[in-house]
Amino acid sequence: MPTDPAAPQEKAPSRNFIQQIIDADRAAEKNEGRVHTRFPPEPNGYLHIGHAKSICLNYGLAREYGGKFNLRFDDTNPAKEEQEYVDSILDDLHWLGADWEDRLFFASDYFDQLHQWAVQLIKAGKAYVCDLDADQMREYRGTLTAPGKESPFRDRSVDENLDLFARMKTGEFPDGSRILRAKIDMASPNINLRDPVMFRIKRAHHHRTGDKWCIYPSYDFTHGQSDSLEGITHSICTLEFENHRPLYDWFCEALEIHHPQQIEFARLNLTYTVMSKRKLLQLVTEKHVAGWDDPRMLTLRGLRRRGYTSESICAFCERIGVSKVNSTIDMAWLEDAIREDLNERAPRALGVLRPLKVVLTNIPEGETLEMSAPNHPQKPELGTRTVPLSREIFIEQDDFMEQAPKKFFRLKPSGEVRLRAAGIIRCDEVVKDASGQIVKLHCTFDPDSSRKVKGTIHWVSAAHALSAEVRLFDHLFSCENPDDVPEGGTFLDNINPNSLEILTNAKLEPSLANAEPGSHFQFERSGYFFVDPTDSKPGRPVFNRTATLRDTWAKMKK
Ligand code: ATP
Ligand code: MG
Repeated sequence: MPTDPAAPQEKAPSRNFIQQIIDADRAAEKNEGRVHTRFPPEPNGYLHIGHAKSICLNYGLAREYGGKFNLRFDDTNPAKEEQEYVDSILDDLHWLGADWEDRLFFASDYFDQLHQWAVQLIKAGKAYVCDLDADQMREYRGTLTAPGKESPFRDRSVDENLDLFARMKTGEFPDGSRILRAKIDMASPNINLRDPVMFRIKRAHHHRTGDKWCIYPSYDFTHGQSDSLEGITHSICTLEFENHRPLYDWFCEALEIHHPQQIEFARLNLTYTVMSKRKLLQLVTEKHVAGWDDPRMLTLRGLRRRGYTSESICAFCERIGVSKVNSTIDMAWLEDAIREDLNERAPRALGVLRPLKVVLTNIPEGETLEMSAPNHPQKPELGTRTVPLSREIFIEQDDFMEQAPKKFFRLKPSGEVRLRAAGIIRCDEVVKDASGQIVKLHCTFDPDSSRKVKGTIHWVSAAHALSAEVRLFDHLFSCENPDDVPEGGTFLDNINPNSLEILTNAKLEPSLANAEPGSHFQFERSGYFFVDPTDSKPGRPVFNRTATLRDTWAKMKK
């Protein structure tokens, strides 16, 4: 069940379980008290909010303990990895504020060392070349409940293994025909210890090593050793690697190298989204979204373009904490984090998303009144700006109701409402076309706003308004768990058909014509908006709604 952000938050325990482990290690002077963490992305996709959690955690711990933080690309799978992903990951990490100083590494830089270590294990009788094919491998591996069987090639001599492994490397054998395996225990209850793969034959161009290699190390034979080479002390990963830890430990011990401590935590899951890179890629390649930076995507690219700040993402990661138990966090937590941040930093503006014309019949044509509006109601130091008011203005269509219920405190026939930063208007007449559609309202303007009037609405002068494109977003999926589908369905069946609404005729106060791409505003009463850095043109900004002012979803569910 998602947690409820409205529920009173329990005070987080002062030290989470990872900090407790590190505290104990330091007290015992393990690793001479050093703390050295890393973030190890595989460059096969763009970073998402789950990765942000891992980055904030690893980088945050290094900072907290005055330690070091490395960035290492885990690039052992040449088939799916690309420079484009490396570049985007570097850029997103910089944006998030993580600093690896001069410690940017690639696991592929260690291929020679890993090869040498493989030879060392062969010589020690701890690794062998196996000729079973993929089907046989599966059959010999056994199951969770049945032990595996030993490979008929398990007892090859050291010399034969050395010879075969050398010939694997020089390209004598076809792809997949032989593998190098660790000789551990085919009867182990942990399948990862049943003689796991160390090197496989694969002719593929690698984004960094080119065609130098036709054998590639497995993830398990790479990850721990890479940590070790870099002097990592605490290798923090997600829970699905818990079963790999005995293997991580086995390789470090068999090779007699520095032995980092692997620690697992629960990965971040969020409602209304998918987090697997494969699924995110599918959304992009099948054009369910406009790209990796589609503002509805929970990629860092998407969040950035939506208007999320790095500070809000780090605050969110901090607030949800770390745990050993998998759970799903309500998306509302993330939205609350950006609201909190933007409430502080976003200047206010007036913008009407779905305009309805109002004629203020007592203001002469051609006359412009200058109203003064605060840029931030809680921060007088941010000053005021002038907003023009004239005979014709726009208000929001749903701020007027002809047959209004009693509790409707906005505009209704013969009713009064306050215009933000201006005066009070009274609705005298509703003008309709032949079909009965409301075309405009005739109102009287009273500049004296000292009277008590319940509602306040936003508005924009028609003669001065900037017409702009405004994009509103909803969750990309229409249910909390998009993977929850009946037999035969896929997560794509849960895509929300109404997740993007483009308003091409929003009316905004004229000062916004010069809004800088990448800047934030609060349109009073409508939400936080971000000037789209890609599609905005000088004088023609395009606005993305980052978040509504309140959690409209929680309201609707009630
Ligand atoms: P996928 O499982 O979708 O293929 P991945 O999560 O394994 O991708 P990596 O590039 O290997 O992607 O991840 C880099 C680091 O980010 C890993 O240490 C991983 O544990 C961590 N990470 C990935 N997803 C999450 C998540 N949802 N929450 C927390 N950490 C995550
Ligand atoms: Mg991974």
